[in-house]
Amino acid sequence: MQTSVTKEPIQIKELWNKRPLIISGPCSAETEEQLINTARELSSENKVDILRAGIWKPRTKPGMFEGIGVKGLPWLANAKKITGIPVAVEVATARHVESALQFDVDLLWIGARTTVNPFSVQEICDALRGVDIPVLIKNPINPDLELWSGGIERLQKAGLKNIGMIHRGFSNYGNTQYRNAPMWQLPIEMKRRFPEMLLICDPSHICGNRTDLHIIAQKSIDLDFGGLMIETHITPDEAWSDAKQQITPQGLTSLLNSLVWRSEKLQQQEFLTALTTLREQINQVDDELLALIGQRMKIAEKIGAYKKENNITILQTHRWNEILEAAIKKGSGLGLSKDFITKYLDAIHLESISHQNIIMND
Ligand code: PEP
Ligand code: MN
Repeated sequence: MQTSVTKEPIQIKELWNKRPLIISGPCSAETEEQLINTARELSSENKVDILRAGIWKPRTKPGMFEGIGVKGLPWLANAKKITGIPVAVEVATARHVESALQFDVDLLWIGARTTVNPFSVQEICDALRGVDIPVLIKNPINPDLELWSGGIERLQKAGLKNIGMIHRGFSNYGNTQYRNAPMWQLPIEMKRRFPEMLLICDPSHICGNRTDLHIIAQKSIDLDFGGLMIETHITPDEAWSDAKQQITPQGLTSLLNSLVWRSEKLQQQEFLTALTTLREQINQVDDELLALIGQRMKIAEKIGAYKKENNITILQTHRWNEILEAAIKKGSGLGLSKDFITKYLDAIHLESISHQNIIMND
């Protein structure tokens, strides 16, 4: 592989605060030629700050391409030498960390299947103690914010200074439009917990296809994310992993050019103010709902006492059906589904019965 053209590499420290931060490259390093050619094209398009490539691939099922392994690390070093673009790999074990550091990888990321396991995250953190390298941590595959936050806290405790988050969506049962549901409220909550921390979006793994990349990328920009990680491949259809979602380096340029980068500061302030106001309103309504339900139970208890005195059963099916029918009718006028009204009233009814039960058997 020819490596004659060399460029002075850009230091990762200079890039860390760049917004938007754009990370791109293949899902997996497959051959030296594929990686170098993708890197060269990305470099000539001049849009990408950091080159990504998976060397160790955590695959859901056995028998799939599980990454080229350490053999790919010199390829990444070559790609950096030729293009000057800093490089990033995913690490899942202490051995991965040690190998990546030996080959001067500039940035590490922890994958979604690793973030779910505190033992693995801790092992990575122990291997990184005393090392000054930026680390991005993807959300866990399940929508558990504590695991994601916990991973960040472990990295902070290991003394890492440059930590960032990657939102790549959450696994869900049953097919939805996306490979991994975005569940935007979760990254928004992480932004609230870690307001100063870099948060970027990975539309490739959320979408699992090429057509929706634009919608997801734009949405993340509108929510004031700090950058994007998007998979690119010199010949996406022939990719050994995640072929359906990868785009060419030219495709990446068109995608980035079609996005509207709004003025972040103003937008962030307006967005946060609007969000806070709406959340306040919701808190207020929730308080009122709880107070009303509490009142309803007190009335139910009085009825219980009355039924006890007159020796009447708690459950009177006829009366309950009347309540349900009336509520479904009223609810539909308020935009509430029959399914919701039924579940809601069932829950209220059960609670009411248990209050009456206590009174009647007192
Ligand atoms: C990847 O970035 O190629 C990857 C394996 O992603 P995730 O951890 O989000 O599944
Ligand atoms: Mn991938």
